[in-house]
This record gives sequence, C-alpha cells and structure tokens, in this order.
Amino acid sequence: MKKNIAILGSTGSIGSQAIEVIRSNPELFSIEVLSAQNNYKKLIEQAGEFQPNVVVIGNEKHYKKVKSELGNTDIKIFSGEDALSQIVEFDNIDLVLTAMVGFSGLKPTLNAIAHGKNIALANKETLVVAGDLITKLAREKGVNIYPVDSEHSAIFQCIAGEFDNPIECIYLTASGGPFRGKNKKSLANATKEAALKHPNWDMGSKITVDSASMMNKGLEVIEAKWLFALKPQQIKVIVHPQSIIHSIVQFQDGSMKAQMGLPDMKLPIQYALTYPKRIKSSFPRFNFADYPELTFEKPDTETFKNLELAYKAMEKGGNIPCALNAANEIAVSAFLDDNINFLQISDVIEYCIENTKLITQPLYEDYHKTDNETRQFANEYINKLK
Ligand code: MG
Repeated sequence: MKKNIAILGSTGSIGSQAIEVIRSNPELFSIEVLSAQNNYKKLIEQAGEFQPNVVVIGNEKHYKKVKSELGNTDIKIFSGEDALSQIVEFDNIDLVLTAMVGFSGLKPTLNAIAHGKNIALANKETLVVAGDLITKLAREKGVNIYPVDSEHSAIFQCIAGEFDNPIECIYLTASGGPFRGKNKKSLANATKEAALKHPNWDMGSKITVDSASMMNKGLEVIEAKWLFALKPQQIKVIVHPQSIIHSIVQFQDGSMKAQMGLPDMKLPIQYALTYPKRIKSSFPRFNFADYPELTFEKPDTETFKNLELAYKAMEKGGNIPCALNAANEIAVSAFLDDNINFLQISDVIEYCIENTKLITQPLYEDYHKTDNETRQFANEYINKLK
C-alpha cells in the first residue's frame, strides 16, 4: 500500500526536497495534494509530473494561470487560504507534510490534525505559535507528529526505542550560521547577501536569515519543548560549526545519544515519511577523513540576542512566543527589504515581546489576534527606526 501524501508548500526548499525523496521511491508514495503560495510555474510543473488529485495555489491572483495549464487534466484546482485548510480533510490523505513558512501554516495544520491526519512537521513556526493547541489536539485525536527539522528529527531518532526512559536534557546543535565569531560592530553593517550565505545548509531565505540571527535556534528550542514535552531548563543549545551531529539526547544515567550524518535535509524528510522504517538512500555518506575535528562552543548570546529572547518568550508562555514569531517574521522581511539593519531585528523582537499583553491560556482566536497586532506593532516600530 502506498502512502498518500499532501505537501503544503511543495515548491519551497523542503517541499522540493520531499518531491525528490518521493520521486526516488514511487513504489512507496503517491502525491495526493500539492500546494504553493506564489510559485505557480513550479507548481504546474510538479502537478504535471505527479498528477495529484488536487492542487492549491494560495495566492488567488495566480489561479487563472494554473487553471489554464491544468484545466484539461483530472486534477482539481483550488485557490486561497481557506481551500488549503479544507483540502487536508480529504479521506485519502495519509500524511500531511507542512512545509509552508510562518504563521500561515497554523490553520491547515490544526485542521489536518482535527481530521486525524498524521503530520510531518517542517513548519516550526506553528509549534512556536500554538504548540499547546497543536499537541493537545494531536493527543486527543491520536495523531502522530513526525519532526522534519533536522535537530528534532535527530532527537526523535535518538529516543526511538527509549519510550519509558526519561530525558534528562537535550542539546540542540547550531552551526552558528554565516556570522559566527563576528562582533556587534561588524554585524550592524551586515548585508543581506552575507546573511543569506549559510555555510552548511541550503535553505529558504526566511530560515537562512533566522540562522544568521540565531532566531532559528530560538524557534527550535520552543519547537522542542512542545514536540518532546520538555521543560525550558532541559533544552540546551551548543554551537557545532560542522553540522555533523544534528542533536543529542542525555538520559537519566548520563548516557548521551547523538544522531550524525552529512547535513542533508532529505534524510530527516525521508525518515518522517517512512517512520518507523528506514529505507535505502543514495544520499552522500559521511567520510571521517573529511572531518578530522568536530568542535563545540557556547553560543554567543551577547552578540546574538535572539536566542535569549526566545528563551524569555518561552518562559513567559501563553501568547508571547506567538508575538516573538510575528515580530521576527516582520523584522526579517524588513531586513530583506533594506528597511532595518541586521542588529535591529533583535530590537524589533524585544520591543514587541516586552509590550505584548500576556494571555496565559490563549485560544486560536487569541493567537490570531496576537499575530495581527504584533505585526502592526512591529511595522510601526520599524517605521520609527527608518
Ligand atoms: Mg533545524
């Protein structure tokens, strides 16, 4: 029996790599849904190759172009945000890969879980924003959430078979990004071209800037809290510039398990799609001679404030991580539009989380409101900085 997959965000970096994994294993998977926000050309190309049941183009202004290209096939074509949320209910979907960017992934993810679909989760922002809602609903519906993020996949792989053994702590590894070792003075003038050049991983632009600013690790700390039901003090971050150890679990007896391999997102994607099985792959193998040294250092939270801000937001809880995420989304896009400098990304986020009113037990509507208000708030603050 093939597994029927819905890919939300199929034209982005994770979506495209998931397509590669599926293309290499046609006997295991078939694609039921493909969706993209703006990249209709690539969506049409993918739909032509995989003939899914449904495609969804998020941005309604591209609907006509998709319709005219695919109108003479059996593929059903939908457009808009609501369509995306509803499509995940389809009976013949076995697994939903959530690979879109940012807050927009929340509604479709919640709806997929509400309809009992297992999730391969790449859209970490949804867990940062509303981890309590998502994990509670998943427990209620008996739904599994398989992490796609490489660090969380590593933790997941390390605890396989250890279900009754409590975790003492985990170490999320961070490459340190392109600005590792830099001081504040040089970062004030850091260009977006430099921020977009990640030393080890080839990823989308939002997450690459997040890696440069250490916010990616901050978001991952919060993501880990929800995925593995951990307390903030159990989650540690260690900089490991080679990105070979993808993360580490330490158990009660002090034993540490690490998951290693060359940095290649196709591995965690494939594991999320085939869990609990491991299947053959032709991904390049690690060669010890290429890495005579694996090194580790403490993160520089003086220079890179975002990691501390994320811990702070996590400790405050409630809707504050949602505000952190919204402020970061706005700040990153302002940085990419040359409206603020690199260090001001943290200033925007700090200002927003300090000035958000805490709601301790938020509902979906509260998250939605916090997200909207924070975006507005962040934009106003950025306008003052300009
Ligand atoms: Mg990661």
